[in-house]
Amino acid sequence: MTIAFNKPTFIGHEKTHVLSAMQSAKLSGDGDFSNKCQAWFETKLNCNKALLTPSATAALEMVAILIDIQAGDEVIMPSYTFVSTANAFVLRGATIVFVDIDPFTMNIDSNLIESAITANTKAIVVVHYAGVSCDMDTIMQFANANNIYVIEDAAQGMMSTYKSKALGSIGHFGVYSFHETKNYTSGGEGGLLIINSAEFVEDAEIIREKGTNRSQFFRGQVDKYTWVSLGSSYLPCELQAAYLYAQLEHAESINQNRLITWNTYLQSLSNLKLNQSIQLQHIPTYCKHNAHMFYLKLHNIEQRTQFINYLKLHDIMAVFHYIPLHSSPAGKKYGRFHGTDKYTTQESEKLVRIPIFYNMQYSQIQKIIQTIFNFF
Ligand SMILES: *Cc1c(COP(=O)(O)O)cnc(C)c1O
Repeated sequence: MTIAFNKPTFIGHEKTHVLSAMQSAKLSGDGDFSNKCQAWFETKLNCNKALLTPSATAALEMVAILIDIQAGDEVIMPSYTFVSTANAFVLRGATIVFVDIDPFTMNIDSNLIESAITANTKAIVVVHYAGVSCDMDTIMQFANANNIYVIEDAAQGMMSTYKSKALGSIGHFGVYSFHETKNYTSGGEGGLLIINSAEFVEDAEIIREKGTNRSQFFRGQVDKYTWVSLGSSYLPCELQAAYLYAQLEHAESINQNRLITWNTYLQSLSNLKLNQSIQLQHIPTYCKHNAHMFYLKLHNIEQRTQFINYLKLHDIMAVFHYIPLHSSPAGKKYGRFHGTDKYTTQESEKLVRIPIFYNMQYSQIQKIIQTIFNFF
């Protein structure tokens, strides 16, 4: 039996909630389950507003509209990220300024941000890779000193913290993803927009409701609703919210389950690290992570290819990750790399992710560890 790289989180209670949503008279967005999910996040994150969206991509697109990105605006971010981090802002006309990463975390190197800031810089998008926090104090300090928005792409970061603060609750905005590859899912696709400044809440509700003031209408704040600004359809349906709510009710045990697997990997593979054969993940002391990912770094791309092939031969699916955006056709067209690419390309070619998902069997974990030892 092949060990998949990922298996979507499923605990069982999703069935009851989804069925009850199906049998209710309200299938479209912002019904009972959506409200329950949003209230859960607002309490947990202590944010001004949490809005469910169809995806993290959609939440990022909402942010680009909210901060009024215009042609010529520059947005700083790492090149080592998923396309949506950049694409959402390019859709509104932004130029992307890629900054090199810190090889220990694969996150944007906070010390390189200041020199990338120009008169056109409108925002910094940080990516908490593998659910491991960026150096947020330094980043917030540069941003506040220069009147620049900070958006946390915490698509992988639900349940992780930076100095005890939830990821996504530190910048002006944060986004989570509930895609099936993430720690929690709303049934395959889904996301969350986290708003940490009260001034954006009303506009966000309008953008999410096709550019209408429908949310205010439902609260009785206006007596009819109408088209008031730019917007689109950024609400997931109730079935997605119901699916997600079941997982929020068990958020802590899902997180603990993943962490046990992650820590088993770390302990077992530490011997390899001592032999200097490989590098393991580095978790800064300011971060508590969510075991979203377990990766190793090998010597180079050739060794990595051999490693992936060897594991596949033994029915284990291991995968590499992002092709740096600045080397992609669209990345070249819509962005530029600031400074030198010292680590982004080099480190991305060494990195390989091994299977980790909710409820992995002990025998699966042991087989993977043994196979990795055999490879070396
Ligand atoms: C998964 C992911 C996204 C996209 O999430 P969707 O919900 O699929 O849109 C964006 N950024 C990062 C860093 C991701 O890992």
